[in-house]
Amino acid sequence: MRKDRSKALFEKAKQFIPGGVNSPVRAFRAVGGDPLFIKRADGAFIYDEDDNAYIELINSWGPMILGHNHPMIREAIVRALENGTSFGAPTAREVEIAELIISMVPSVEKVRMVNSGTEATMSAIRVARGFTGRDKFIKMEGHYHGHGDSFLISAGSGAITMGNPDSPGVTVGTAKDTLLAPYNSLEAIESLVAANPNEIAAIILEPVPGNMGLVLPKPGYLEGLRKICDREGIVLIFDEVMTGFRLAKGGAQELFGVTPDMTTLGKIIGGGMPVGAYGGKKEIMDFVSPSGPVYQAGTLSGNPIAMAAGLAMLRHLDSHPEVFSQLNAIGDSLVTGFRSVLDELGLNFTINQLGSMYTLFFTDQEVYDFETAKKSDTALFGRYFQAMLSRGIYLAPSQYESLFLSTALTEDLVGKIVTAHGESIIEVMG
Ligand code: PLP
Repeated sequence: MRKDRSKALFEKAKQFIPGGVNSPVRAFRAVGGDPLFIKRADGAFIYDEDDNAYIELINSWGPMILGHNHPMIREAIVRALENGTSFGAPTAREVEIAELIISMVPSVEKVRMVNSGTEATMSAIRVARGFTGRDKFIKMEGHYHGHGDSFLISAGSGAITMGNPDSPGVTVGTAKDTLLAPYNSLEAIESLVAANPNEIAAIILEPVPGNMGLVLPKPGYLEGLRKICDREGIVLIFDEVMTGFRLAKGGAQELFGVTPDMTTLGKIIGGGMPVGAYGGKKEIMDFVSPSGPVYQAGTLSGNPIAMAAGLAMLRHLDSHPEVFSQLNAIGDSLVTGFRSVLDELGLNFTINQLGSMYTLFFTDQEVYDFETAKKSDTALFGRYFQAMLSRGIYLAPSQYESLFLSTALTEDLVGKIVTAHGESIIEVMG
């Protein structure tokens, strides 16, 4: 497999861009080797600058739930382009997408569009603070909510991958208002609440975290958080940037039947364009400017091209609920295949899966929080990643990520991935 053009581009990129990439995990530091520079993507495949084809299991870190370059999304973008690219004024599409999101996501009664998941979570915390008049919030260890200062404390995703879960540049003053709890422990939340009476504005979490690898909530955990928040007047925020419109039409909150006060969204909501959103109860969202005093704005928020792509995507998901059962079936089939290979080889690695999200952890222990996720053998993961890549399967280049499947994965492709997985495991286990 030739990689000359990717290699040359990376050498050049490093001269002009920090680390040669515009987002850290893309640099392949956790798995070794040089990143691939991607020329195009279609359906279940991406193609690098050297014209190698790979079956895709990242899907742009989640958004491309229908596979790449879907004709319906492409056509919506092209049609919107004919009318101009940005107006900085309200549009009909913004009203349509807001109405649709509200009809799909149980907790959302009003919604504000932004340009990324990071903006959505930063804004949601500000609104929760403004609404409650309290400064502190609780975040879970190993969860990632984008790169806002107050979230870069024991953060997951690229922050763990790069070895900086606590980023320099975040001031002590900022960090003191972020309280940390291990995921899946209601006792830890009760202790923090007792130690900070009437001081906690919000609890924010990924209801099904994907940013320390995929981890599932223990039975009763999300319900328990809901009860504590109700009792203490704390705003419960589900960060569904990954899980929204993926685990179900209404995200993890629909799947688990627990309705938060606020929800943050991203990825799928933009159909591959840069979009995020935050929404929730009317009384809370009416605190946002210009209805209320909490300021939040954006030059390109509600951008007409991005809204066209997002609307096309959400309308499709709304009118084709079978997409979710199809995705679940693809996830089940892939993971059943992986497990049977591991069983045959007498290996007991943990695979966490929910629908079209999964992570294979290179540990035989149960993974239910950040500490247990860190038991995984990341060096072994790095070798497995390279073995899969050399067989034409493109995985997320870090152990601490979830994979995201798309409807473009046919049974035939699933079979190819399972075969490559078997060969790769044999290769890396020597
Ligand atoms: N929240 C979660 C759960 C995420 O997974 C991410 C990104 O992966 C973000 C927030 C940040 O979103 P963005 O990268 O669009 O800023």
